[in-house]
Amino acid sequence: MTARYAVGIDIGGTKIFAGVINLETGEVLGTARKRTHPERGADFFTERLLKVAEGAIEAAKLPAKAEISAIGAGIAGQVDRVAGVLLTGPNLGRGLDNLPVRDLLSKRFKVPVTLGNDVEVATLGEQYFGAGRGGDDFVCVFVGTGIGSGIVYQGATRRGATGTAGEIGHTVVQYGGRLCGCGGRGHLEAYASRTAITRVLLAELRRGRVTMLADEVSADDLVIRSKTIARCVEAGDALVLETLAEAADYLGAGLGSLATFYNPRRIILGGGLVEAVAYFFERASLRAHEVALPVPGRALDIVRTALGDNSGIVGAAWMADSALATPA
Ligand SMILES: [Zn+2]
Repeated sequence: MTARYAVGIDIGGTKIFAGVINLETGEVLGTARKRTHPERGADFFTERLLKVAEGAIEAAKLPAKAEISAIGAGIAGQVDRVAGVLLTGPNLGRGLDNLPVRDLLSKRFKVPVTLGNDVEVATLGEQYFGAGRGGDDFVCVFVGTGIGSGIVYQGATRRGATGTAGEIGHTVVQYGGRLCGCGGRGHLEAYASRTAITRVLLAELRRGRVTMLADEVSADDLVIRSKTIARCVEAGDALVLETLAEAADYLGAGLGSLATFYNPRRIILGGGLVEAVAYFFERASLRAHEVALPVPGRALDIVRTALGDNSGIVGAAWMADSALATPA
């Protein structure tokens, strides 16, 4: 059998990342990435998106006879799967609302295009080629700008009554607590997301707290890279350690509650900070086991994603390919 290939694209508020995937093996053959800059508007975004997809195809250097059969994209926002339209993304700005992403891609590349949500496609990537392989009962939790999760039960994605199942970032871990991006209070995301951690670190930096971070970032920065945080942890920086410890404790509380209530066999944890900082992952995992009821807690396995940064592009390619087999 000849190998089949599809392009997977992961569209987030920070970056657009694309790769050509071998659909038999999940192997990533070539990738390209660029910053999203959603504030520059729809035309700029469209051009970037097409460039990144082209870049991945060029980088893959496929044999002359090989063809791309489909393109899949996972977007950090709500999508209309049938129309192939991005409805709205909290971190993509209002300028990209209602963008017909599917048609933009299919017009340029002349192949079928399928659109999904970023967490959904990353979960598919782990399910078929990563840490969920061989198991059909797990939850993938991704810690990034926000915290989202994908639930796989008996091998199928569980979407819930209104299609919103898995919004673990907006479960309450502190009644009446910190204001969340969604307008609610005390949500997990307001304590344990990368956004929440960055906010605390920058506020402490502005207050003049002595920290290694002062040499790495300026107080006006809005983003702190995972690698920077990892370096500070390694050097034993007190501020970074105490901030991560607090965030990991909240994350552990959320995961432990998930384990008690939902009793999954496995939780797969992903996201830049989880990948880069072992301390963050280990502490959250320890807390989750501590706070869960003993029986579901003992049965629970918490692991990191196997595909890391590639979960989204691999899953998006898989989604596009499986849509070819089951036309809507
Ligand atoms: Zn919220």
